[in-house]
Amino acid sequence: MSQFDSTQVGFIGLGAMGKHMAQQLVKKLPDTAHVYIYDVANAPVEELAQEHPGKVIPCTSPKHVTQNSRFILSMVPEGSHVRSVYLDEKSGIASTDLGDRVMIDCSTIDLGTSSSVKTHINEHHPAASFYDAPVSGGTLGAAKGTIAFFLGCAESDPHLVSLTALLRLMGQTIIPCGGPTLGLAAKLCNNYLSGLIAIGSSEALNMGIRAGLDPRVLSTVFAAGTAQNTICDRWNPCPGIVVDAPSSNDYQGGFKVQLMKKDFSLAVQLADSVGAKLALGHEGLTTYEAATEDPRCFDRDSRVVFRYLGGDEKWQGKF
Ligand code: NAD
Repeated sequence: MSQFDSTQVGFIGLGAMGKHMAQQLVKKLPDTAHVYIYDVANAPVEELAQEHPGKVIPCTSPKHVTQNSRFILSMVPEGSHVRSVYLDEKSGIASTDLGDRVMIDCSTIDLGTSSSVKTHINEHHPAASFYDAPVSGGTLGAAKGTIAFFLGCAESDPHLVSLTALLRLMGQTIIPCGGPTLGLAAKLCNNYLSGLIAIGSSEALNMGIRAGLDPRVLSTVFAAGTAQNTICDRWNPCPGIVVDAPSSNDYQGGFKVQLMKKDFSLAVQLADSVGAKLALGHEGLTTYEAATEDPRCFDRDSRVVFRYLGGDEKWQGKF
């Protein structure tokens, strides 16, 4: 299948990210196309089907989606859900004849699960293809169609052109990361680093305010100095510095602290499995675990770590 057959696409998992991604697909595919959808929850399936009668077709299982689609995307929370979507003996994707279908899992999960799903598909359906393609950009990016895909495939992969055409309907940047599971490895490395930068930035801002520094001045210093980073520039953990950052809106929206805990934990597991020594992995993980347990922080943007550390959110009164 060298050309992207845009007439039959399947989408499984219509949660915070998946629903927006499926909506982008439906909006951008031609009117002759059909999008076959499934979620264990009925509400998002019915909602999307009612919004686009005739173009969006509700299905009763991942197997049912697969029987109607040439390309199948999945976006579910964790490895156990991916396993069930693909490998359930009765209702899973691989329980039907896959022919030369192409499957793309966009969930952020452990590399081992992704690899075992791929191996199962290769062994039982040799003409079919499975790729990992986790995303970055959050729910706002998914709603705007601007997310980035980290694609677990080589530049020389025969499906790269088709995959890029399909993923471009939902996102702006598609980066082939070299081969199977490397999209996931890239995503976990990215979130590990971004999670640590958020903790370090929160610590430095908290310490500076306590030492008498206006955090606006301190953020300008970071931006001009060697500490310059995107978290401080665009997602500043201290409220009131970046007007449209989640911190300035009581940490609503953004990337939830419990998702950061999950990804950070997967990254620490990855480091362990490949023998990479971490100086800050344990500290980072326990910080996100404790922030997730803290009722002042749960369900809020992960930069709420500033609040967890006791940062002064009412600093305006001081300067
Ligand atoms: P979510 O919990 O909002 O949605 C997941 C959806 O999957 C739900 O609708 C759920 O009913 C469905 N589901 C669960 N098991 C299923 C199954 N067996 N079959 C079919 N549907 C099933 O999660 P989300 O925020 O959309 O995240 C999905 C993935 O994307 C996660 O791995 C997450 O880490 C990653 N991610 C999330 C964000 C974000 O900002 N939310 C950003 C980047 C990546």
